[in-house]
Amino acid sequence: MPVRIVDRLPEPTTESRAIIVHARSLEMFERLGWTIAQTETERILTKGLAEYSITVERGVALAGLTQHEYGGRVVLEHADETHESAGTGWLVGADGGHSRTRQMVGSALAGKFKGEKFLMGDVNAAHDLDPHTMYTFFSPHDGPLLVFPMQGDRLRLIANTSTDEQRTATQEWLQQVVEERAEHPIRIRDARWLTVCEVHHAQVPEYRVGRVVLAGDAAHVHSPAGGQGMNTGIQDAHDLAWKLALVSTGQARPAMLDSHHAERHPVGAQVIRFASTLTRVGTLAEPVAQKLRYKGCTCSPASPRSARRWPTARRRPPSRTGRARSWSRTGAAATCTPATTSPQPARSCARRSPKHTSTCCSP
Ligand SMILES: Cc1cc2nc3c(=O)[nH]c(=O)nc-3n(C[C@H](O)[C@H](O)[C@H](O)COP(=O)(O)OP(=O)(O)OC[C@H]3O[C@@H](n4cnc5c(N)ncnc54)[C@H](O)[C@@H]3O)c2cc1C
Repeated sequence: MPVRIVDRLPEPTTESRAIIVHARSLEMFERLGWTIAQTETERILTKGLAEYSITVERGVALAGLTQHEYGGRVVLEHADETHESAGTGWLVGADGGHSRTRQMVGSALAGKFKGEKFLMGDVNAAHDLDPHTMYTFFSPHDGPLLVFPMQGDRLRLIANTSTDEQRTATQEWLQQVVEERAEHPIRIRDARWLTVCEVHHAQVPEYRVGRVVLAGDAAHVHSPAGGQGMNTGIQDAHDLAWKLALVSTGQARPAMLDSHHAERHPVGAQVIRFASTLTRVGTLAEPVAQKLRYKGCTCSPASPRSARRWPTARRRPPSRTGRARSWSRTGAAATCTPATTSPQPARSCARRSPKHTSTCCSP
């Protein structure tokens, strides 16, 4: 079916944001004959579209929308500020968390706003981190710091901050946070992207409003914890695409699109609950709650390299579970996996899945 895609940004985004691509998304790409590299998702998707002779018309923004029973009219604003009016049978509003489409159809996100705040950065840094490991440093007083090594010396850094924090993100501030919380030395050389982001957990009540369907962050927003936002959006799009193709070519009734809401809305709601819980658990400030969180992990010893790096590290006897914990200046370092998800000791789990080991520190 012929489609047209517009995007207000003149160039594709340079923010790496979604670096976790889940198996289900990869399966969907595979069915389309696409393969994907983590940090290249958007470029690869755009290239994949080109194979169907579809280009993303950049610098073109949706500026107006009216609907009628059989379609709608959109006003598109071009980069040179000229406006174009175009007819459309259906419109997919995949224009992000601040969706204008959502606004124009009179819909709104409902949920919990103004939640936790995070200082985030994509940086180039000198470090000795394992490129295949995601690190989480829990420190008792300052909250967690997540470190995701990416290509080359690039790192994604995420640290929670006080909800009252009003500062804008700077490299100096991020460096200070890293020094306070990370067990490994990380020296930021330059920052590609810095932001303070306030987390909202919310969803629209209806994914379809007449001839408009909302998808991705336009339909659901939540904390990046768990890396689900883009993945959920891709899966929304996958479900919507074949249904829209059948409906728009007259092979199915428009009511079929209601099944998109019926199937995908509960998934969005579940993802929001999951991300919300993960964020709450990750940012627990209460010492007793922090201890319980730590109890919820099965831990294996920290890598000898990290223990060596900190000559002041204090050794403690094995815990009651019989697994050793090594303690450093900033807290305990241990490979960690939730006890409820793996009956195996973390050590063997880490061996089975070396690319998804997390390092955690407890008080
Ligand atoms: C720090 C961070 C880390 C994340 N990590 C992960 C992760 O590891 N895994 C994961 O799955 N998700 C992750 N996410 C979430 C993920 O980035 C989002 O869920 C995803 O980008 C949503 O995609 P989207 O296309 O719905 O919206 P967006 O990515 O926001 O894209 C919307 C597009 O619409 C365009 N647009 C806006 N208004 C208009 C208009 N009026 N007309 C035309 N175009 C318009 C914008 O220019 C933009 O290009 C992360 C998010 C953040 C902030």
